Amino acid sequence: MKPFRAGEIVGKVYLVGAGPGDPDLLTVKALRLLQTAEVVLHDSLVSGEILALISPQAKIIDVGKRAGQKLLTQDEINALLVSYAADHAIVIRLKGGDPGIFGRAGEEMDALRRANVSFDIVPGITAAIGAAAAAGISLTDRRVASQVLLTTFSRGTDGALMDWGTVTSTTTLVLYMPGADYAEVSSRLLEGGLPHDLPCVIVSQATGSRQQVRWSTVARLAAEEKLPAPALLIVGRVASQHVQQVSERAWRAVAQDHSSETLRVI
Ligand code: SAH
Repeated sequence: MKPFRAGEIVGKVYLVGAGPGDPDLLTVKALRLLQTAEVVLHDSLVSGEILALISPQAKIIDVGKRAGQKLLTQDEINALLVSYAADHAIVIRLKGGDPGIFGRAGEEMDALRRANVSFDIVPGITAAIGAAAAAGISLTDRRVASQVLLTTFSRGTDGALMDWGTVTSTTTLVLYMPGADYAEVSSRLLEGGLPHDLPCVIVSQATGSRQQVRWSTVARLAAEEKLPAPALLIVGRVASQHVQQVSERAWRAVAQDHSSETLRVI
């Protein structure tokens, strides 16, 4: 695709976060843009309630994935963004949560830069934050946590490699896209050196009307009933309703068993 020339008048693309589901969690800026948009390209994660807030004059295009079936490739989405910007002032790329968190915003921004299309990012509340609120936990509860790691096991690139060296007894792990196979997730967490009885919580459809919260542990997770997508997993000492009772002892035991250099316990 040929880049636009300097001085050529083209529209602007807004990469907008729609938040985790509840329309009340949209930012004021996101709402204002949706009401003035000419074109909106959205993912399947974006709820019908939020789509209903888009200007009736706007052209709305679903570019998301459904039941594992891709409607459009990433390259096709990039090309659409660039070509709509040629003759529309406000083009919105609307994504669930925050556009920059597991949202492929990086690839889209690269394509827009290459084509000389200007863009803005409008942040949204990412699912980790929505899920923590749904479960009533603090991801950085200072009594038991010092850091939060947003991660996933399901990625197609080198970014998939999990660096267990960064996981400590005061890490809160938020696992996006855990998939349907909780037994597999549980065994990967155990292989990574997490203690069997470390708390975890599955949060499904966080902030939506059908939100569900299931308290578990890393070992028990294997046998938990699968909750509807989208769901994520929060793992760590904060993932409990009784944070202060979750001891650090388990971590020390694991550290003694484990000769692995990658497991650091503080
Ligand atoms: N950009 C999005 C994440 C996209 S990846 C964000 O910032 O939230 C899609 C994954 O996000 C889902 O597989 C699920 O793990 C998580 N997710 C999105 N919305 C969710 C919700 N309402 N409740 C629980 N998990 C959610």
